[in-house]
Amino acid sequence: MSDKLDLIIKGGLLATGAGIARVDLGIQGEQVVEIAADLDASRGHRVIDATGKYVLPGMVDVHTHPVYLDDLGGISVTGAHGGVTTMIHYAYARPGMKLLETLEKFRADGLTHSVLDFALHGGLFDVEHQLADVPAAFKMGVTSFKVFMTYAKLKWMTDDYWLTALMDVVAAERGLVAVHAENGLATDYLEDKFLREGRSSVEAFTAMRPDLLEAEALNRAMSLARVMGCPLYVPHNSAAACLEPLRRAQANGWRVYGETCPQYLTLTEETTARVGPLAKIGPPLRTPADNAALWQGLADGTLVTVASDHAPKAKKATDDFFEAAYGSPQIETMLTVMYHAGVNGGKISLPRLVQVMSETPARLFGLYPRKGTLAVGSDADLVIWDPTRRHTLSAATQHSAAGYTLYEGRQVTGAAVLTMQRGAVIVEDGRLVAQPGRAQFLPTDVSDLYL
Ligand SMILES: [Zn+2]
Repeated sequence: MSDKLDLIIKGGLLATGAGIARVDLGIQGEQVVEIAADLDASRGHRVIDATGKYVLPGMVDVHTHPVYLDDLGGISVTGAHGGVTTMIHYAYARPGMKLLETLEKFRADGLTHSVLDFALHGGLFDVEHQLADVPAAFKMGVTSFKVFMTYAKLKWMTDDYWLTALMDVVAAERGLVAVHAENGLATDYLEDKFLREGRSSVEAFTAMRPDLLEAEALNRAMSLARVMGCPLYVPHNSAAACLEPLRRAQANGWRVYGETCPQYLTLTEETTARVGPLAKIGPPLRTPADNAALWQGLADGTLVTVASDHAPKAKKATDDFFEAAYGSPQIETMLTVMYHAGVNGGKISLPRLVQVMSETPARLFGLYPRKGTLAVGSDADLVIWDPTRRHTLSAATQHSAAGYTLYEGRQVTGAAVLTMQRGAVIVEDGRLVAQPGRAQFLPTDVSDLYL
């Protein structure tokens, strides 16, 4: 063939969930149209030399909170710098808010401000009064719904009655329920007890949220989901104790999908002790043994996704621990932290990294193979990855509005040098070259989970 292509990416190693191959990519418009061992460079209006680099499908981050220091625009910018091309944001409908109005507002805000394509999860804080909107949410392309099993004192907790009701309604629509799995009432009791006893706030924080109360809630949610015939997604598994119930459920064919995050794989309670409120996240950072078990769970398929839980809040290391908000910036460092610790560290292969951070998230939410891989017909959503670039993670160089990162000073090898979405370069050599207003809203469809 001699027809012209808009773009050829030449000389790179294509790494997808299926493996690694030395091929060139031809891109026309927004899509990959040719993949071949050697595309003639003269056919390209533009040729990008990827010699010595990997070409990865863009990361699909299914766990983000664009309502804190980074809004829907800001989170897309900091994400794009880190190699993310698709996000599924939690649209939180807090008590008193209407679910459908909230989803419509997030969709409109994202279309105006985001530089990356995005989808939405519904987040319900008051199932009793928000459940009636769930069927209409499906009609707008929102098919996954999250509640908290914890944070009772904050009045965020959904009890088992309303969690079961949500699963009932969502299953009838062939959707997915997600839970923050920690036992909220036991956690609150332990908080009261430990503070009464005068324990330091950092020590009390970790002790009041033990691994067994996470595994208990996970097991309870899986059981309720099984009874109601509803697939279940469990974000941010943080503990070795979660893996045994997940493995048992999988062995029995239950439709349960476990996620973890870079922070639970590479940080421990030592960080919480050192930076205090900055590392106040829920579930808490745990132990090196938990890190090791979670890597094993990722490698053996017990855990199927890695996502960021990006939620940067305004706080300082000197703030009162219990007054400080939960959350940390993660989306920009996610891929480089995972590549360095996982691939360079010999914990997982690069194709496995692509599976858990791009392919499987896209598959679960019905975005594959448009997103989550690079095949003929896929969106040209990709990252050119330099596996040799050494750099030091720092708040000073990240693009989040947060003034901190939990990885301050960490030396890593491997960096995104170009991020592209639908054929358009978004970030190149550390510079944002895209404008807001280009994003597409992606309806999700999880009905394949019912096959
Ligand atoms: Zn979260």
